[in-house]
Amino acid sequence: MTLPTPPIARRHATLAVLALSLCALSPTTWAQAPIQAVASFSILGDLVRQVGGERVSVNVLVGPGSDAHVFQPTPTQARQVSQAQVVFSNGLGFEGWMSRLLKTANYRGQQVVVSQGIKPLKDAGHGHGHHHGHSHGAADPHAWQNVSNVMAYVGNIAKGLCEADAAGCDTYKANAAAYNEQLKTLDADIKTAWAAIPAAQRKVITSHDAFGYYAQAYGVKFLAAQGVSTESEASAKGVAQLVRQIKKENIKALFVESISDPRLIAQIGRETGVKPAGELFSDSLSDAQGPAPTYVAMMRANTTALTQAVKGQ
Ligand SMILES: [Zn+2]
Repeated sequence: MTLPTPPIARRHATLAVLALSLCALSPTTWAQAPIQAVASFSILGDLVRQVGGERVSVNVLVGPGSDAHVFQPTPTQARQVSQAQVVFSNGLGFEGWMSRLLKTANYRGQQVVVSQGIKPLKDAGHGHGHHHGHSHGAADPHAWQNVSNVMAYVGNIAKGLCEADAAGCDTYKANAAAYNEQLKTLDADIKTAWAAIPAAQRKVITSHDAFGYYAQAYGVKFLAAQGVSTESEASAKGVAQLVRQIKKENIKALFVESISDPRLIAQIGRETGVKPAGELFSDSLSDAQGPAPTYVAMMRANTTALTQAVKGQ
């Protein structure tokens, strides 16, 4: 008796399918699927990646160049949150939208507030920040602008990941220790950069109110740009006021994003001899091609921009 051809062919086909499915299964069978984490904003996303390494997949809600203060989560992001095992936020009133998002996403996983245990500064609350709509009043949320606070963030991130994934705990602790060594060097380098500049010269005009922690940690005075409102266009009177302030305080460093009109900036430059300086990164990283794609790069870019500006370079 001879076997008809079709069953053999079918059997071969079945074996082939079985072999293929074994291959397809192997990554999930032999290697562990990464822990699904969500980080509220780009700076925190970088920190979680540094500690999590390859074991953790990080989704960032407020990406580079976006404003965490007026964030509207998309349905896709709400789904990412609902599927996450651990959600990281800064806390200190920074993410006013977070609790509603977690509720909408019906999130039941682990929550880590990375600023836990740091000593918060009181919020200056000048209200002139171009985007600082958070009316927290109590604490200034921008604690990451002091590198030693971020070392505490890193400890909290490692602890949170250890709770979510006990098998990876040794890896997270080792990654955190190695990254904190980088942060120690960064902190020392920022202090060295400022030490070379006389205290009286360390004055910066900025429209941000996001540098309170940097000011305290590194001995820099950030002055509010007077007469420049965020809601309205800078008025001639406002500009005149700013020019007087720069002359009176003998300020060489001017970072004022609110004045976007290049003619006004040129005018201030002519009348004061101060060249408006480049960009500062407060609440967000740059994209990968920019000068601040990571936290460490951001702090170095800000420090270079600030120290060059106060030296009048
Ligand atoms: Zn802010």
